[in-house]
Amino acid sequence: MPHKSMAIGIDIGGTNLRAALISHSGEILRRVSEKSAPDPELVLGRIADMVHRLDGPQVAAIGVGVPGRVDAENRAVLSGGYVDLASVALAHRLESMAGRPVVIDNDCNMALVAEMALGAASGQANVVMFTIGTGIGGAVAEGRRIVRGKATAGQLGHIGVELDGEVCKCGRRGCVETVSSGTALGGHIARAGLGPDVSVDQLFARGAAGDATARGILDAWARPLRAAIDTAVAMFNPELVLLGGGLGEAAHRALADLPALAPWYQAAVQPAKLGDDAGVIGAGLQALASVVSQASARPAGGRRAVLVNGIPASGKSTVARGISERMGWPLLALDTIKNPFLEALGGADREFNRTLGRASYAAIWLVVGEAPAGATFVVDAWFGFQPRALLEDHLGHAGVGQTAEIWCHAPGEVLAERYRARLDQRPAGHPGATYIPELVELAKRAEPLRRGPLFDVDTTKPIDFDAISQWLREVMHG
Ligand SMILES: [Zn+2]
Repeated sequence: MPHKSMAIGIDIGGTNLRAALISHSGEILRRVSEKSAPDPELVLGRIADMVHRLDGPQVAAIGVGVPGRVDAENRAVLSGGYVDLASVALAHRLESMAGRPVVIDNDCNMALVAEMALGAASGQANVVMFTIGTGIGGAVAEGRRIVRGKATAGQLGHIGVELDGEVCKCGRRGCVETVSSGTALGGHIARAGLGPDVSVDQLFARGAAGDATARGILDAWARPLRAAIDTAVAMFNPELVLLGGGLGEAAHRALADLPALAPWYQAAVQPAKLGDDAGVIGAGLQALASVVSQASARPAGGRRAVLVNGIPASGKSTVARGISERMGWPLLALDTIKNPFLEALGGADREFNRTLGRASYAAIWLVVGEAPAGATFVVDAWFGFQPRALLEDHLGHAGVGQTAEIWCHAPGEVLAERYRARLDQRPAGHPGATYIPELVELAKRAEPLRRGPLFDVDTTKPIDFDAISQWLREVMHG
């Protein structure tokens, strides 16, 4: 598991701020939470703190689910509810605080992504979701993609159900949110003369026992929701309508008690499965998907490179060879190119070794650049030995549109031992035993490039080449 690419998923709610470390498959590996607050600056600070607590070298990106209207493509919050993040540049500021790519989206879109990946809508292609909480959120997926329209499609809480109804915060009257949300349920209860502490479960119990008031409240709450669902079904013709949010299950139950109708437009209606976890899981999955699609959204015919990265003695050569054999992609190792020159030229000092290293690095990318379009190479090097900007330069000239990184590492003491054991096999010009303390220090601060998707390999453990190959097939498209 530690070798998978991971993301941090964040769900901003009116009561709680949730964050979790999410695996490639949507599993929650760790979770933290904080209290929410109406002050957006305070919320941003708490989010940054949660990210800091969950962050690690395997984290490729961060996803944030935001209540309200969100322009996901332009990463802008257009309006919010209890926490209005429209005034803070959430994505940009979090990105610079965390040093990771950040994607944002409406919270219900995030929840639907999670439910489609591993919840109540798994295997379904066309799904409509309502989240019933303080307000009513909505999301629509067609062919497993979120329907966005110009930017904010799917705000199903603003389907009109009463032309002369209550004024909604959107500026219209009688949106379903004004009559079928959690807030509205409180209003129905109060208007019926019941105390504010009556729970929805008590209403069901009273209704089952024949209490007309309780039945009337549930009917007034659920009937407009039924109308909104039927409207959404007529518009999108989904296989499934999901009801999520804190009151999703209750709404599902209340709908079942309504008289049956047989309109033209019908779809199965089910409660969502993932509960409060849907938001963070969906946010994490969206973040990972965006990293993959950004890495692959390069010019057609571009070349691709698997960057097998790690400091000397990190075990990266074994990993690179294994990948090359399994995937059938040619291997270019820095040492393979450099060593014949070192041997032929002989008597080299460390500075000369470095010069040859730089030349070999350039040679690798020249070879890649000569390959046919679409070719994929496995490149074995300690990429930290040269500036990142130089790598970007080389990649640009070589026409490499997509990279994936395999980060190989082991504790400093292990590296020292491996390095010592191989001293007599290294050609002259390689630094000798005097390099070992430096290597141990380097092990402490060496970091992956984090360019594109990242797979983490602890080389003190048996290397799971099946997992690496499967991951590469997933992230390297085309
Ligand atoms: Zn409205």
